[in-house]
Formats: sequence, structure tokens, C-alpha cells
Amino acid sequence: MPLLNLVGNTPMVNVGGVSLKLEYMNPTGSHKDRTALYMIRDASRNLRKGGYVIEYTSGNTGISVAWVAGILGYRAIILVPQKTSINKVNMIKLFNGEVKFVAENEDGHMLAEDLAKRTEGVFLAQTRNMANFKAHYETTGPEIARETKHANCFVMGAGTAGTVYGAGKYLKEKLDMRVYALIPRGSYVQEILTGSSENDREIMEGFSYHNFSELLHRAIEEEVIDEIIYVSSKEAIEGMRLLWNRGIPGGPTAGANFYHALKLMKQGCRPVTLVPDSIIRYPHLLEEIVREKMKSEEIEKSEN
Ligand code: PMP
Repeated sequence: MPLLNLVGNTPMVNVGGVSLKLEYMNPTGSHKDRTALYMIRDASRNLRKGGYVIEYTSGNTGISVAWVAGILGYRAIILVPQKTSINKVNMIKLFNGEVKFVAENEDGHMLAEDLAKRTEGVFLAQTRNMANFKAHYETTGPEIARETKHANCFVMGAGTAGTVYGAGKYLKEKLDMRVYALIPRGSYVQEILTGSSENDREIMEGFSYHNFSELLHRAIEEEVIDEIIYVSSKEAIEGMRLLWNRGIPGGPTAGANFYHALKLMKQGCRPVTLVPDSIIRYPHLLEEIVREKMKSEEIEKSEN
């Protein structure tokens, strides 16, 4: 089987009444393999063999882009913010992607555009690239529709918003599902939409704290999103714990999705959501949470 055929068609399981699509089962470990495949196939019209694909991302997209580019015979340059976790940087390098760090006072999008010009490559720009939307409109959405007969609402946190926009639009059109988008508390998007900002730890790598993506604008404008829910890091951690207790090794955004899917279920909706990636990608967070878990278990023991 060609390697790229392994992207998508991930398993769907039912956990506590919530349908969960296990996207960490994609080849590099996240739903971003779908996005990278669609974006690079689309870009290939303007690329010669060995040409450059360029992306600015701190997330899973960089890993997926490096992987797909390598398989299709292109070279990937991934610009990442300086504080990007070493684990992700190493995964990009593992798949032969070139990593360039972007300082806090630099504009990553401008640097990527400039680099694309100089290398005659293509800047994928996932936050505004409609191939990102299309990946989920044509694959994630239809898969969910086939695999869950009883769900009537779709819950998904927004990074680029490619998933909530693409899969959400499909599920709304075909099954009349209600679509909930999660936005991190303390994010720029929350500030713009509500006029107020909060303080929170930025643990949900993958959700957008600092940008209001073009695709999110479109999803709101086209009324794909019925409701926005603001999610805290505490809720994401609680959601992760609940997932782990049920044997699903979800990462922070999966925790956020699951926490609010359960909450919506109590309000009468039958939710479907994604487990975008796994906690294995966040060793520092994993260690911190397990350390706290051990501590509280010891305190409990000594009190009994
Ligand atoms: N969770 C994780 C772990 C991610 O990497 C991303 C992508 N940034 C998202 C959720 C959000 O997906 P999207 O970009 O499609 O909104």
C-alpha cells in the first residue's frame, strides 16, 4: 500500500457516550497529515521535483508537511517560533525538514513569504489555505458521517479552524449537526470576540492563542459555527485525565474537546469530536501531570 494512503480513515470509538475519532492514529500522529497532504498536492501544480514547500507553524503541521514533502520528492522548510517544543522540532528534522527559528520580534508569515520567493517555493499558509478546509470537508467530515449514526453535534477546538470549518460544514450540510468551536481562554480571538481577556496557561498547543485565522473568519461568516465555547487549560487537563482513565492517550486539545463534549452531552446533545494528537508528543506536560497525580494519591493514602 502506498504510504500516503495511510492518511485518514482513522478509527472511531465511543467513550462514555461521546464518539471520538482517533486522529493520533494517522502516520505522523495527528489530523494534520490530512491537511499537509491536501495542501502539498494542491501546491504541486506550482512546484518542480525537489522544489521547496515552506510553512510557518509551531504545531503538528510542520511534522506532517516534512513527512508528506519527503514522500512526494519535495524539500520542506519549517519556520517555528523559538519556544516550540524540542520534540516537535526533532520530528521535523527526522523527516528531513529544515527548521528555521523565528524570534518573538519577527513576523513568521513575512519571513515565510520572503523565503518562498527566494527559493521559488510555495508558502503553504495553512491559516488561509482552502486546501486545509477541503481536507476536512472531503475526508474527516464524510468519515464521521459514515461512522457515527447517532451523533447530532460536532465539537472541535480551533487552531487554523480548518477542521471545525471543513468537517463542521460537511456535517451541518449532510446531517444537520450543530457545530461548537472551542477557543482558548485568554486568547487573542477571545479578546476580539468578547472584548475581554483573561490569564491562562497556554497548554493547548494546536489551538490558537495569538492569531485569528482567515479560515475561522470564514467559518463564522458562513455561519458554520453555531456556538463558541471558551475553554481553560484546567478544563483541558481534566478532560485529558478522563480520557486517560478510559485508555485514550489524548493530548491537551483532545482533553479540551472531550471535556466540553461531556458537558454538552449533559445538556442533551450527542457529541462527536476528535482526539487530534496524543500526550506522547508533550513529554514535559505528561511528566508534570503524572507527578501531581502521584502526589495527590500519596496525600489521599496518608489521610486514610
Ligand atoms: N489540536 C492539535 C493538537 C493541533 O495540532 C491542531 C492544529 N493546529 C488543532 C487541534 C486544531 O486544528 P485546526 O488547525 O484544524 O483548527
